[in-house]
Amino acid sequence: MSRVAVDYEAPVAIVGAGPVGMALAIDLALRGVRSMVLELRTESQVYPARANLTNVRSMEHFRRWGIADALRANDTVSDEVKRDVAFVTRLNGFQIERFPRAYEWDERLPIASEVAEWAPHGSIEQTLRERMATFPDHIQVLFEHSVDTFAQDDWGVDLTVTTPDGQKFARSEYIVLADGGRSKLRNEVLNVRMEGHAGIARSFLWHFRSSEFASLWKATDLASMLLFYNEDRAADSLVPQSGTDEWAYFSSPVPEDVDGDNWEQVKAMLFRATGAEFEVEPLSGGTFITNTLQVRRYDFGRAFLVGDAAHLISPMGGFGMNIGVSDAADLGWKLAAVMQGWGGPMLLPSYSIERGEADAFILAGCEANQAVGARELVQPGIEEPGSEGDAVRAKVRESINIQKARQFKRMGGQLGYRYSSSPVIVRDDVDEPDANFEEYNPSASPGNRAPHAWLADGSSLFDHFGLGFTLLVLDDFDSSGFVAAAAVRGVPFEVFEPGSEDRAGLRELYQAPAVVVRTDHHVAWRGQEAPADPGAVLDVIVGWGSLANPAARTEISTSGAARVKGLGHLGIYVRDVETMREFYSDFLGLTVTDRTDTKVFLSAKPGEEHHEILLAQDETKHTDPQQISFMVDSLADLRDFYARIVERNYEIDHVSNHGNAIGCYFRDPEDNRVEVYWHTGIDWPQPCSERIDLSLSESDIRQILRDMVASAAQ
Ligand SMILES: Cc1cc2nc3c(=O)[nH]c(=O)nc-3n(C[C@H](O)[C@H](O)[C@H](O)COP(=O)(O)OP(=O)(O)OC[C@H]3O[C@@H](n4cnc5c(N)ncnc54)[C@H](O)[C@@H]3O)c2cc1C
Repeated sequence: MSRVAVDYEAPVAIVGAGPVGMALAIDLALRGVRSMVLELRTESQVYPARANLTNVRSMEHFRRWGIADALRANDTVSDEVKRDVAFVTRLNGFQIERFPRAYEWDERLPIASEVAEWAPHGSIEQTLRERMATFPDHIQVLFEHSVDTFAQDDWGVDLTVTTPDGQKFARSEYIVLADGGRSKLRNEVLNVRMEGHAGIARSFLWHFRSSEFASLWKATDLASMLLFYNEDRAADSLVPQSGTDEWAYFSSPVPEDVDGDNWEQVKAMLFRATGAEFEVEPLSGGTFITNTLQVRRYDFGRAFLVGDAAHLISPMGGFGMNIGVSDAADLGWKLAAVMQGWGGPMLLPSYSIERGEADAFILAGCEANQAVGARELVQPGIEEPGSEGDAVRAKVRESINIQKARQFKRMGGQLGYRYSSSPVIVRDDVDEPDANFEEYNPSASPGNRAPHAWLADGSSLFDHFGLGFTLLVLDDFDSSGFVAAAAVRGVPFEVFEPGSEDRAGLRELYQAPAVVVRTDHHVAWRGQEAPADPGAVLDVIVGWGSLANPAARTEISTSGAARVKGLGHLGIYVRDVETMREFYSDFLGLTVTDRTDTKVFLSAKPGEEHHEILLAQDETKHTDPQQISFMVDSLADLRDFYARIVERNYEIDHVSNHGNAIGCYFRDPEDNRVEVYWHTGIDWPQPCSERIDLSLSESDIRQILRDMVASAAQ
């Protein structure tokens, strides 16, 4: 437990405001979960040329997050640049091959709810930042906050942060490391090593400005990616960043005699590839090492790795950020489910299993792309004019189509990955072909991304999947069992029955009358008929596994003797059941899970415990329990409760600072003593009870805690 009072607090701390950290914050905010995003950069510091491709799968998530159109609007690459991939000898030489619309389509695809977007890294980050700003109550972005270290305990995580105002402390329930490939926290705090193939290539990336450069494209029209295949075999390529004056020049592997950190040498290479010298201003750039590396697991207690912190991939194929976005999409709903009380103990570990499998599949595909390039495919004579040169270029074109095209036609990598070994998927017995990196073969087998379809009304099927689970009903199917089981468990669950004009096609696509689809579009269950026990299916897919089976639970014991797990529920007699229901549900926020005229069952975690309190009307048996204590998430929540307790004129016994917790003790409408308390995160010897005023500001209360810690240290 923490030994210091904190400056910042949120249920989830996200380290790093790169694309992946921001994506996670947005996903959480949409689910009502607060996060703080700590970023060492200043607000105005933007990464220059890096990711350009937000692929089809990421754009499907961007659509869910309400930013697909915003990214298109923020794209700085002009329409003059065709979203094609072109292969030329040199800019003043010959075109060898051109794949039209390899990176972005105008027309919608039948297989996906979105098309890819080719927009530079800056546009992607700007779009995510703008969306984060629309959640002021849920996302706190802290620029110039570098997280130095963190420590976990049973209750949460303490972070030590360097800021321009000195050292600060933060406290959260979970920490997500989205701090990029060099993650200091992964290496030094978690002590986790990446495994795989380190140093598969030495690469450079330079961002430069030249207004003259567009006019030098003689061999082909402006394309979103241009690869040079010439006798230099420099494995170099160009990516327009604006269309007219900003460009990225990339080489991987860098020729052995070139120092990628030396602009003069890089410029000489660029001039050779262009076939001309021109006015050029370098903006930023240098060498980096290309790796295929992954951590063995992504979850370490309350800490999770996402994005480049979990995996490093060859840029050949444009997957680096995109697989990180899918990490965020997988982790976001699981963290929310556990914090909201309906997610079970297998749910967070399943993040690592699911994404580890999918990321490994894509890492392997991109490494294969890296292995084939200009060095391997160029043949002597490729730059010769006339028919002899044409014949060589035709041969190289053929090799490109056989060996290199997969880098640009990789829909299987984007949409065809699966969660085959996940413990939160209910598999069926239907055989399916192996996943294929190049070709996407839609499959509704559980674990796959749900096959997409456009519906007759023009909407995407995916637009009908909610923030929880969606039962997609495509034929005669009794959904009532699922609906009832979900309600008892507090699992967000919707039923979607497409119109008759869509059903036959979808029935064929899904090969079943009903499937349960998760909020991240993955199929969790598929059935030919309603399951005998829908609750058992739900228990598995929300992570309770067999532990949700009450019979199994009673068998758990440590030393042979059965032992209780914790406080289950409390029954109290009340005089006026309706007044007391209003207090415990409307005021304190518990959910009514069942009721009769004289009994009300309530729970703060309805998915976990059917009732934690039973109110039973019986005036004669009314008694006074010693105390009922409820935890709250934050100091803000405690102060909010305090203000409302005062407003309602409930009798306050006292408000006490126990060091490790602050509690407000007051009376419910029938004079039972109730406590609402917040864990301060400070490890403090007990008993301790000092009066504290909850009408003070949050920062004053934190200062009292800091002073307490400081005086104890003297
Ligand atoms: C040449 C090149 C081309 C690429 N092209 C593509 C592409 O087309 N498509 C694609 O999907 N991917 C591409 N990528 C990869 C992509 O850029 C990365 O995969 C992506 O940026 C990873 O996002 P991230 O959020 O995980 O990490 P990052 O973007 O690295 O963000 C990590 C953030 O954490 C911050 N940080 C680090 N340590 C701390 C700390 N201790 N405290 C606080 N903040 C911290 C950093 O300042 C940074 O902002 C390319 C990469 C390269 C090099």
